Formats: sequence, structure tokens, C-alpha cells
Amino acid sequence: MTTLAQQYSITQEPFYQQQSNEVALYEAAYKARLPVMVKGPTGCGKSRFIEYMAWKLGKPLITVACNEDMTASDLVGRYLLEANGTRWLDGPLTTAARIGAICYLDEIVEARQDTTVVIHPLTDHRRQLPIDKKGELLQAHPDFQLVISYNPGYQSLMKDLKQSTKQRFVGFDFDYPAPELEARIIATETGIPLADATRLVKVGGVARALKGHGLDEGISTRLLVYAATLINGAVAPTDACRMALVRPITDDADIRATLDHAVDAIF
Ligand code: ADP
Repeated sequence: MTTLAQQYSITQEPFYQQQSNEVALYEAAYKARLPVMVKGPTGCGKSRFIEYMAWKLGKPLITVACNEDMTASDLVGRYLLEANGTRWLDGPLTTAARIGAICYLDEIVEARQDTTVVIHPLTDHRRQLPIDKKGELLQAHPDFQLVISYNPGYQSLMKDLKQSTKQRFVGFDFDYPAPELEARIIATETGIPLADATRLVKVGGVARALKGHGLDEGISTRLLVYAATLINGAVAPTDACRMALVRPITDDADIRATLDHAVDAIF
């Protein structure tokens, strides 16, 4: 029978291209068991970084994609009705605190504030999780660590983390990797030639320059990897770019035409 820790452990080294000295800094934060916040636009490598760190530290990783309908029970746990009574089921946060996993709450600002506050007692020196419904005060496993991610671009006054939450974390700022690094990431991740990866990064650069001028968000590294995957599958590069890079990010005909022209010029 596999244990929960085995179930959530990362057995194969994920490919992660370091952007600066974030690996050493994360190790220092983990050593002190400080809660970590990773900030940056969607698809720029935040989750991959946490996966890599969990693998490197040899700790299980439990990831939760947060959304606005998420309640505290979705994180902490609930009683389930069964034929002969009720049974308690731990939520992902409780499981992580019990088994000593890294708990990664992805896009935490999406969650309602009454949900977000349940993490507070886990983030200070107490490292405890009160499970009110069960009458249990769970002391977190010594290996447990809490990590949250968020995209400051999406943030509005209604959807921002409270200072009382923010000031419980040490932070890492992420952004799209520098062009040469990003090309190397795409080439390594998908196996396409570096020259093609470099062209994809150029298309990304054009779109990123339009952020705030008709685009809410530039093309992510994730989408560049999608385009490269299509090219690797013998799709014509211009079709791959239109499909993976241009269509998903805008419904505006003018911006689409601008990006399509850029694709034709670059490939
Ligand atoms: P997010 O910032 O939304 O969590 P991800 O970590 O899921 O983004 O990154 C999206 C994809 O981009 C990954 O699946 C990976 O293919 C690629 N990627 C981005 N940055 C890196 C990096 N530094 N090293 C390796 N792959 C990366």
C-alpha cells in the first residue's frame, strides 16, 4: 500500500532552469520553515519552481488550485455521510500539515478572505491548524511548509491579499525568463531546435510589449511551450503560433492582426 507521502512525492527530477539564485534562497527559507509567496504573471514558471524545490528537498508536494467557491472546509476537511454514520476526510491543507508536505496554494487571491484566514495559525510560530469541526488542534509536522502563488496583474482592490496575510510570507518575484534563457527552456522542454525556440521568444516579446496597450497579459512561457510542442508535432510554425500564441490571448481583431503579422515576419 502506498502511503500518502509516497503518493504526493515527486520521483523524477522536473526540468527547472534557474533564473537567478532562487534555488539557494528557497532552500534557506525552507530550512527556517518560513512560508513562501511566489508572485508573477501566469505561466512564467512559478509552479515548476515549487515542483523542482519539492523534488530537490525530497518532500511531498500537495497543490491546490484556489477558486472563489472554495471554502475553508475544502482546505481543512469535512465529515462525509456514509451508510453507517459519518467519516472525517482531511482536506489537502490538513493532509500536508499531517504528513509534512509542502502545501502549494496556487492563485490564492481567487479564494475568499474567510477561506484565506485558515492558513494564518499555520504561518506563525505556532504552526498549528485548528480543526474546529472535529475539535482537533493539529500541530504541523516539522517538515510542513506553506507556499502560495499569485499574479499581481489580476489584482484589484476587491481581490488582493490582506496585509495581515501578506506579511506572513517571504516573497519571490517571478517574471518571464530573459530571452536566451526562455529559448533554452523551450528547446529543452520540447526538443525543438534552438533557432525555432528563439523565434518563438521573439513573438512572445512582441505580445509582451503590447501589455497595457490592448493586451491584459503578455504571452506566457507556457503558451510558447505549447507552440513549440505543436511545431515538434509537424504543425507549420505560423499555424502553431496563431493557434497557441495569438488566438488564446485576445479577441480584439486589431491586436490579432498585429500579432499575426509579427508571426509572419518572424517565421
Ligand atoms: P505558473 O507561473 O503559472 O505556475 P508554470 O510553472 O506552470 O507557470 O510554467 C508553465 C510552463 O513553462 C512549465 O510547464 C514549463 O514548461 C515552462 N517553464 C517556465 N519557466 C520554466 C523554467 N524556469 N524552467 C523550466 N520550465 C519552465
